[in-house]
Amino acid sequence: MKAGVDFTKSAEWSKQEALSQYLIDRWGAGYFNIDENGNMVVYPLQEQGAGISILEALQEALEEGLRPPLLIRFQDLLRHRVVVLNEAFKAAIEEHQYRGIYRGVYPIKVNQLHEVVEEILDAGRPYSMGLEVGSKPEMFAALSVHNDPEALIICNGYKDEKYIRMALLGRKLNKKVIIVAEKLSEVEKTIQVAREMQVEPLIGLRIRLAAKGAGRWARSGGEHAKFGLTTSEILMALDLLEESGYLPSLKLLHFHIGSQIPDILNIKSAVREASRYYSKLYKMGHQLEYLDVGGGLAVDYDGSRSTFHSSMNYTLEEYAQDVIYNIMDICDQEGVPHPNVISESGRAIVAAHSVLVVEAFGSIRKSPTGTCELPTEDHKLIQDMLYTESHLTAENLTESWHDVVQVRQESEKMFELGLLDLKVKASVEMLYWRIVEEIQRQSQLIDESELPEELLELDWQLAEQHICNFSVFQSLLDHWALGQLFPIAPIHRLNEKPAAESTLVDITCDSDGRVSKFIDTADVRETLPLHSVQDNQPYYLGIFLTGAYQDIMGDIHNLFGRVNEVHIFLDEDEESGFYIEEKIPGNSISDVLAMTQYDSRELIKRLKAQIDAAIKADLLRPNEGMKLLSFYEQGLAGQTYLEID
Ligand code: PLP
Repeated sequence: MKAGVDFTKSAEWSKQEALSQYLIDRWGAGYFNIDENGNMVVYPLQEQGAGISILEALQEALEEGLRPPLLIRFQDLLRHRVVVLNEAFKAAIEEHQYRGIYRGVYPIKVNQLHEVVEEILDAGRPYSMGLEVGSKPEMFAALSVHNDPEALIICNGYKDEKYIRMALLGRKLNKKVIIVAEKLSEVEKTIQVAREMQVEPLIGLRIRLAAKGAGRWARSGGEHAKFGLTTSEILMALDLLEESGYLPSLKLLHFHIGSQIPDILNIKSAVREASRYYSKLYKMGHQLEYLDVGGGLAVDYDGSRSTFHSSMNYTLEEYAQDVIYNIMDICDQEGVPHPNVISESGRAIVAAHSVLVVEAFGSIRKSPTGTCELPTEDHKLIQDMLYTESHLTAENLTESWHDVVQVRQESEKMFELGLLDLKVKASVEMLYWRIVEEIQRQSQLIDESELPEELLELDWQLAEQHICNFSVFQSLLDHWALGQLFPIAPIHRLNEKPAAESTLVDITCDSDGRVSKFIDTADVRETLPLHSVQDNQPYYLGIFLTGAYQDIMGDIHNLFGRVNEVHIFLDEDEESGFYIEEKIPGNSISDVLAMTQYDSRELIKRLKAQIDAAIKADLLRPNEGMKLLSFYEQGLAGQTYLEID
């Protein structure tokens, strides 16, 4: 049997079949499951807490007037990730009797939303979790929301004088703000501004390691990296600090070899190389306090637990163990004290906490839906098709496939030359898809290893397209730009067998606005089994693990703006087990127009002038004109996505 759903069997589907079809039990990591009604459930605290039906959460949001596309944030899940990360480092430190402490910092760039950052800081308070910033605006945000004197603010990214001044203002407020120099000139600038402000800076150096990551973000590491100091630049930085009397301010060594590092071996070798730098510097008399291992802790988007770019071959616990053990191993070899360890994990904290729910409101089939009547006057091409159809057997599937392809090609050539009328062309196409569907049906009953590649591709050839009310460019930018895979599954009807293989297309006018690569444990799937969209019944899909980077990087292609959003908390006193703590309506049409310099009042004024002129010219009755104007005015306040009834 071919892998995937056997569409030929009965319509019932077990929970186990659905779990393994959409790999929920793999990427779900204990946070996602299916209930007895076939609905997706989120367990924000894994097995230690109750579940929330995503469909119920959506229904509650609908009652509040928020339609899909809807981003649902599970705040308890976010908090849980913070605890899991910090506890993993705590356990590793205890197990290895490591003599330094762990201080996590959350890199704001991964999801800057105020509520997300506040929630992380709140959940991380017992661990003095801090923040990492990579730009001046992020610095401004961090300085204000950070309020634990023990928690760090790590300043990465290229810096101008104002950025450095702002960081040093934090020092004046007794905050542990560490300026990490990405290049030599930042060391000079920091010394200069610190001297002027008469404040003691805390300085770090980013090292450019030879070790590299792998996968989509590998270029962040290695000698072609955009950031960091070479070994000789580090020595120059030390000279600069010594000459200026600021050597005691040097506290930290930092590296970052890229996000989403799928292979633990890359992490281990980077940690070992950086620990060697730390040890050598320490032995030169520089009493550094911190080693910052950057980000890179991956998320297993496809659940394959492999070194594929959408996956990872290690767990969060193994990551913490390996970071701690390898630093300790090198420091012990070199006979230097264990540094305090900082990690800047972003993706691993925020990815799982948000789910984007989109509505599929129609589908496009390749095979014609209605049956078209064959022309009475039988054409040779039609005869050939009918012959192939009547002689089709399990033994001649490939041959039949070749025959229908040839007849179709002939029909296309004849049409080009003006030798075929539309009726015959339509009949040939209709027969082609009918026969191909039958070939595909029969090939599904044959072991995949015995099928030629051409027939294996029929699933893709015949795949439908579900039209979904969202924009890939706004909500799934990394999929479009980098081919990053995200788990996608219906959030309901999971006790019903899907009807066909399909892909997703969005509502932008761009043909790139689609999702046609899906997770798989062995490779990448080109289609996803989905249910048919039934008239008057909404069909909702969840796009999971979207909490990292996607929220902030989306653009307003076609002027589709930010989507509606709700933040949900578990609450055992509520009948549903949860409540919506925050509703954030998405951008209105006037919001996105304002982003592109259209002033709504001006737009209304200009349209009114045109309506007045049309009334004067007797093209519109005054009443009609005023209705049109108010429809326009009200529409500006409406949402940018389709309002599907
Ligand atoms: N630290 C730095 C310097 C980064 O550039 C990034 C992102 O690329 C991160 C931390 C966050 O990485 P991740 O999301 O993989 O944890």
